[in-house]
Amino acid sequence: MPGLYIHIPYCKRKCAYCDFVSFANRTDHIPYTAALITEMRLYSPLVNSKRFDTVFIGGGTPSLLPVGLVSRILAEARACFDIAENAEITMECNPESVTEEKLIEYRTAGVDRISLGMQSADDAVLDAIGRLHDTKTFVAAFALAKSAGFTNINVDIMHGLPLENESAYLESVRLAASLGAKHISSYSLILEENTPLYAAVSSGSITLPDDDATADMQDAGIALLESLGYRRYEISNFAKEGFECRHNLNYWNNGEYLGVGAAAHSALRINGKWVRFSNKTSVDEYLAFLGENKLPLEETKEIEREDEMFECIMMGLRKTDGVSRAEFEARFGIDPVEQFAAAVSAAALDGTMEVTEERMKLTRRGLDFQNEVLLDFM
Ligand code: SF4
Repeated sequence: MPGLYIHIPYCKRKCAYCDFVSFANRTDHIPYTAALITEMRLYSPLVNSKRFDTVFIGGGTPSLLPVGLVSRILAEARACFDIAENAEITMECNPESVTEEKLIEYRTAGVDRISLGMQSADDAVLDAIGRLHDTKTFVAAFALAKSAGFTNINVDIMHGLPLENESAYLESVRLAASLGAKHISSYSLILEENTPLYAAVSSGSITLPDDDATADMQDAGIALLESLGYRRYEISNFAKEGFECRHNLNYWNNGEYLGVGAAAHSALRINGKWVRFSNKTSVDEYLAFLGENKLPLEETKEIEREDEMFECIMMGLRKTDGVSRAEFEARFGIDPVEQFAAAVSAAALDGTMEVTEERMKLTRRGLDFQNEVLLDFM
């Protein structure tokens, strides 16, 4: 079933490593909420045959929105779209911007999953990457979320950060687990150009752990997470049984989703065609289009069948369970092992892929070299 993504492009301050579409010091939250509502109303008749199984309010920092706006957005989403009764509804929050009042509002509005950005449990590391919170604030935010009634809480952690060593990273994992996180996303830092961190590393004023140290952190993190009862179900995502993120699983299954908000992306089956489209990145342009009751589209692209097949492989092989051969065949009328015979044989010989009657999936080594394996599938 499709997912609904709602993008909130506001942050109090940009983190040093961040190249996401988010803007500091904008205060037009109310006009932006009105624009989101207009956009959802415009999409409503176009997707009225689809039932949405998940909603994800991401950013940016959605928890920066003043009290009252998240409930308005969710009420309008329910009015515009067929959202399943038991839909998973996730809200991304940063520790310094959540309050008891906001968390109670989210819970009352039907949010049942909180994703908290911790990144590290080491205050010196947090400072080096420009985060606004410290560990004490994160722990307090986690406790507030629990006392507001949330049991399904994800914690985002990063590794390969400035000033970070393996023991600091493992301490971050231990802290998230000890607080009761049901899901942990553990990403390796990607040094993006045009970020302050990139400039600092290029000028030599900040040093990052080298590739070997970062790979060692990842291996030690996987071992620790597994020993703590979290199953690695995607390259960077770990969950207690039954707490896998349904919204993200839909992406990795190359399922349909509608994205609303500045810079949001969508993929929908429209009149039998697989279509991807994206919104204007500039908030001003986004507001201007919706002010005239026009969809704020930047790009629309119909995806050819062969490309859609490759997308299914590329996304599906991120999951440790890999790609279901039956589901692929139901979608395309051909077994993926037959469709990609040469690439599958090469990967199997190389020890990076396992093929069973039901599934094709990457081995542990294959997950470390996913990009290289995919080159053959292209
Ligand atoms: S809080 Fe998230 S979206 Fe905002 S600047 Fe930091 S990393 Fe980027």
